[in-house]
Order: sequence, then structure tokens, then C-alpha cells
Amino acid sequence: MIKEARNKLNNVFGYEDFRPLQEDVITRVLGKKHALVIMPTGGGKSLCYQIPALLFDGLTIVVSPLISLMKDQVEQLRQYEIPAIYLNSSLSPEEYQANVAKLKRGEVKMLYLAPETLLMPQTRELLSNLQVDLFTIDEAHCISEWGHDFRPEYRQLNEVREDFPDATCLALTATATPRVRKDIEQILDLDNSETFLASFDRKNLFLKVADKDDPVEQTLDFLYTRKKQSGIIYCFSRRQVEELYVELKKEGHSVKPYHAGLSKKVRARNQELFIRDDISIIVATIAFGMGIDKPNVRFVMHYDMPKNIESYYQQIGRAGRDGLRSDCLLLYSRSDKQKIQYFINQKEGQEKEVAEKHLKDLMKFLETDECRRKPLMNYFGETYPHDECGMCDNCLSVDAEVEDLTVQSQKFLSCVARTDQQFGAYHIADVLRGSSAKKVIENGHNELSTYDIGNEWSKEQWILLGRMLVRQDYLSRDENYGSLKLTEQARAVLNGQENVFGVLDRTDTVIGDDAIERTSSDVENDYERDLFEQLREKRKEMADQQGIPPYVIFPDTTLMEMAYYFPRDEDDLLAIYGVGSVKQKKYGKDFLKLIGKYAEENDVEPRQKSLKKKKKKKSSAKKFQQVGEAFNKGQSIDHLAEEHGVKEVTIIKHLKTYLEEGNDLRTEGIAAASSLSVRKRDEVMDVMDEVGARMLRIVYNKLDKTIGYSELRVMQLYYMAQNRD
Ligand code: ADP
Ligand code: ZN
Repeated sequence: MIKEARNKLNNVFGYEDFRPLQEDVITRVLGKKHALVIMPTGGGKSLCYQIPALLFDGLTIVVSPLISLMKDQVEQLRQYEIPAIYLNSSLSPEEYQANVAKLKRGEVKMLYLAPETLLMPQTRELLSNLQVDLFTIDEAHCISEWGHDFRPEYRQLNEVREDFPDATCLALTATATPRVRKDIEQILDLDNSETFLASFDRKNLFLKVADKDDPVEQTLDFLYTRKKQSGIIYCFSRRQVEELYVELKKEGHSVKPYHAGLSKKVRARNQELFIRDDISIIVATIAFGMGIDKPNVRFVMHYDMPKNIESYYQQIGRAGRDGLRSDCLLLYSRSDKQKIQYFINQKEGQEKEVAEKHLKDLMKFLETDECRRKPLMNYFGETYPHDECGMCDNCLSVDAEVEDLTVQSQKFLSCVARTDQQFGAYHIADVLRGSSAKKVIENGHNELSTYDIGNEWSKEQWILLGRMLVRQDYLSRDENYGSLKLTEQARAVLNGQENVFGVLDRTDTVIGDDAIERTSSDVENDYERDLFEQLREKRKEMADQQGIPPYVIFPDTTLMEMAYYFPRDEDDLLAIYGVGSVKQKKYGKDFLKLIGKYAEENDVEPRQKSLKKKKKKKSSAKKFQQVGEAFNKGQSIDHLAEEHGVKEVTIIKHLKTYLEEGNDLRTEGIAAASSLSVRKRDEVMDVMDEVGARMLRIVYNKLDKTIGYSELRVMQLYYMAQNRD
């Protein structure tokens, strides 16, 4: 049976392999056993019932609460020539009757239903005369009052299920809350059911938190490198949505607002424009997002801080359903936090306690210096199994400019001590900079030995340092008064036993290019942008003709592969992601024509798409090759940095790539770039022997933070160059 399922996967849907758990779930369902599937958004839940639906003789029912989505889902299935229909209150009486007639004639494989439609006596009567093999409950969390979209009708599904004694029941949800999951299991109470729980780590989402500094500017910077990409920007209030919308519009962005203050009609229209790729950006309150199935949302930005981790996760979850890399940027400020705190203070009793706990968990995520996936996964009861994900700002900051801030930290901490740990960062900054502010003079702080010893830095820099020291647990901040207190760890810095390293400025919204290299495929890196745009236009034209969203025809991934492999004929086309036999026949010719023309005009050769074989990376090949060769010929690292107009760290990265690509490097040139004593170098090498050289954060901690990252990077290269076999 599973063989036939695989066949459908390849030939109907045009996909190569099952995603994690899909095969297990499908096997179970085909064996006619109940199951509950918990998978994050974009995990591929639909195939878990669509493929069995194709293989069963009888009907598959899909209960879904989102009327707005049913049409699109059915449309997508029809694109594969799968006989699917839906019944809900949006149909005209004639359409409704036509669908009922089709059902009676046995012409339907899949039936999508709103719960209230299913509960109507005439529907139940109609269906009880049909052979139903699979009864699917989508968005199963609607059954729980603890979920965010509780639907009372869902509670009655258990009873309706008895109408179909031969049907297997499959419930699916993307809910991340353990409590809701438990609730679903209990309420559904399926006999001998098995629960399939996928990991909630969305690997393709890049997570970044930046301090909110000049948010409009930061947003414009962020959008500048994302032209033509689809994205959502979440704001706290309607007013904020409107203000930002005006700003973005003014700058020429293709954008619409969305919030509950707009009429239903305007909201529906703006959503539709977004889904159909007529506009790129939606600025919205949290009212936006339910029922958005758009797979190519490339970024989700939080202009204001979200309320808790759960809403954050749900909102960023709307990015990257298609599995391509997508960016999530959150702008964080203390005043946003205070706003949330203000709302919490209005609450009482248990409700207040829960909200405070939520805020605390969110702060853990925002202020961590570790991989962001750790607190995030942890919140959902999962332990993130790696030290680094390579796809969050913290994991990349190992490679970013981590500075040695020991001296300034000592000044700051001792100033905190001298002012009896009674003041906040602003005041400390004033004292350090020798300000004659009233508060300084009145407290006699101009008499302190730490007065006026910090003129090398601006007030802003000192404040940033204060925040960083809190993040790194050298200081704790009193929640009510904002005063800073020294922690045990701070003593070691004051005594000169511990050095402090860190990144002062967290306001920049640039999202690491390194991550692009690390995580994207060759296709994502090297597809022909111009051809892709042409294919997109073609797709949009076809979609408009049929009145459907573009992604229903093909997802972006398909077009990207076309613009990378340049398939010549229909056979080549079948190897492309998302092209099955039906779509190949339907759309193949039009796209092939464009590809052929482009290939001819630009003299490009088709690439063979060899299934299941990863090709070697070749992105930015020239640069690292060049640098590696010049280095081996005797040029020094700092010379190369100057010659290429880049920082030394960039040269070191190129050399690392050069090594990793299987070339040799002369080790003496690397050692020369290190300013550590031979004894220190040996110490580092010993640690690398012990814990490995790959993860510098571990080496750094193992060395008690005494050697900075820039030195460690040199040593890492040295280590790698020596230990090659
Ligand atoms: P969910 O309902 O869990 O959010 P979907 O079922 O909408 O996820 O799937 C997300 C995307 O991934 C869709 O575009 C879908 O076609 C695609 N997809 C699902 N399964 C696979 C697979 N095995 N291989 C490739 N793409 C897949
Ligand atoms: Zn990480």
C-alpha cells in the first residue's frame, strides 16, 4: 500500500520524498487505524489525508473551520484533477445542490465541510448513505476551550463520527501547547489511536531580535533588501498600523493595512490582494493571519513586541510554509515591555499570574545570549538537541563582531557598586561621563572615583553596555525601579578574573548572509533571477485568468527550480519539484516556452536534475578560491584583508571555506595571524582536542571566556588546517 502512496506522491503531487512522519501517518491511516497528528504549520499535514483519500474506494470527509480556505484547498486539488468539492454557507443554493448531486452520484473523492454544515440533519442523512472511509478533523485544536479558536460545534464531532462506523478518524493540528494537545486526545477519545508528534522546530526560519532604536528607519532598512518579497509586519495597535502603513506607502512600498477597525469588505480585499501577489506587504494587528495559507511569505516582522511566545510562534509560523528560508525580525524595546506590563497589572488573580509567567518566558527568549531555539523549543516542552542552529542572530554572532568589553564593563560595574546599587543605567552613564545633572550632584556622585572616567563613550553606548551586562547576568535589574544590582558573576570581572565579551549594538536589522550560505540549497543561491521573474509573471497571468491565487498553480520553489535547471522538455519537467503528470500537461508548455527562449537568448545549458543527489556547493567559489591560493603563495591575512577591502575575519572565513572544500592551507601563515603566546595557543588547541573546534561558543566557555572570539577564529582555522588527513 505504501508503495502506491509513494507513487501518488511522485506522480500526482510531483514530490520526491515524504516529509518526516508523513509516511508513518499514511501507513497507519491506510491500515484503517485512528490517529492524531500534531505538526507545525508547513509540516505537510494535508498530504496525510489527501494521499489516503486517493487510495480509498470510498469518500474522505475533511472537517475544517475555515470557510475562507476551503475554496482554495479544493481549487488546489482540482489542479491535480482530484475530484474534490466543498459544502458550506458560502455556496449559492444552485451550487450547493449541484455538489450534493455529485456526491449522490459517487463522483467525489474528497468532501470539505464546515462543522455547522456537517451537523445539519439533512447533511448527516445524505452522508450516512455513502461509504465514508476516512473522517478527517482538521484544525483539531478547535475542540479545546484552551485553544485560541474554540468552536463549540467541534464538540459534537464525536457523535457524528458514529454515523460512519467504517471510517478511520484522523485529527490534525498545529497547536504547540501541550495542554491543548492533551485536551484534544481526551475529548476525541479515539480507540487505539496513535499520536504522531512532529518537532516544532521550523528550521527554515531565521530568528533575529534587534533593539528598537529608530523603528521606521529600521523597517525601511529591512525592507530595502527584500524588494518584491511577500511579508507581514505586525504592530501592537490599529493606530500604529495606520502610521506605519503611511510611512511605507510614502517610500513607495507595495503595502496595505489590516486591522479590526477596517470594514469587513476592506479587510477581505486587502487580504486577497496579498494572497494573490498583487501587493507585497501587509501591515497588520494580530487580527491578521488566520486562514492564510500563502506558502511564500518570506518574512514576518514584529514592529512591536508580541504578547507572549505563543502568539509570536504562531505569527512567525506564517512565514516559509514552502520550506524556503524566511526571516523573522523582532524589534524589542523596554517601553513595549512596559506597555504589556501595564495591561498585565490591570488583571487579577490567576489570570494575572499566567500573564506574568508568559511575559517572563518571552523575556527569556528576547534576552538570551544562547541559541534562540533553546528557549523557544523549551517553552513548547521540547529540548533543542543542538548547541547552535546557525539560523538565529545569536548563533551567527559568534562570527559577528564580538568585542572585548572588559575595561568598560569594569568601569560600569564599579560605578554601580559605588552608587550603592540604587540606580539605573541612565544615571550610571551620567556619572561615568561626568555629567553635572541635578541627580548626580544632589547625590554627591560627582565626588566618586568613578565620576568622569568614561568620556571615551557616548551615553548611548554606556546604556547599551548596561543592557548587555544584564543579558549576560553580570547585573540584575529591579523590575519595579530599574535599579541595577551586581550579581556574583560581576565580582570576578571587578577582580580582573574574568573578561567580558559581547555585541554592544543590537539595533541592526541586517540578517546574516552567512545563514544564507549555510542553509540554502544551490537552487536557492543560484537560480536565474530574471527568468524567475518572467515565470512569476506568467504564473500570475494564468492565475488571474482562472481567478485563483498564483501558488495554486505552482509554488515559488517550482519556479526557482525551473530557473535553475532549465528543463528542455516535458520529461525534464517531471523531475522538477511540484510538477506531477497533470500539471505538466496543463501548464508545461507555457513555462517550457519561456525557459527555452531565455536559455537561447542567454546561452545557458540545462542542468540535469539528478534525483536524490546533492550537488557540491559552488556559490561564491571564485572569491574563496582566489583568497586561498594567494594565501598559500605567501600573502598574509592582513595583507589580503587590505587588498580586498574587507575585515580580517572575512578573509579567515574564506580560508575556512577553502579548507572545507578540500584544499590545503599553509599553517605557519595562520599562526602568524594570532597574537596569542605559544603557551596560550597550545592551551586553545588542547581544548579543541577535547571539545572539538567547530563550535566556538563551547571552546570560549571552556576557556572561561578568557580568549576572545577573534583570536579563537584564527585558532580554529589553524586547528583545522593541521588536523586534516
Ligand atoms: P500544513 O497543513 O501542515 O501547514 P501543508 O500540507 O499545507 O502544511 O504543506 C505545506 C507545503 O509543503 C505545501 O506547499 C505542500 O504542498 C508541501 N509539501 C507537503 N508535503 C511535501 C513533501 N513530501 N515534499 C515536498 N513538499 C511537500
Ligand atoms: Zn541558534
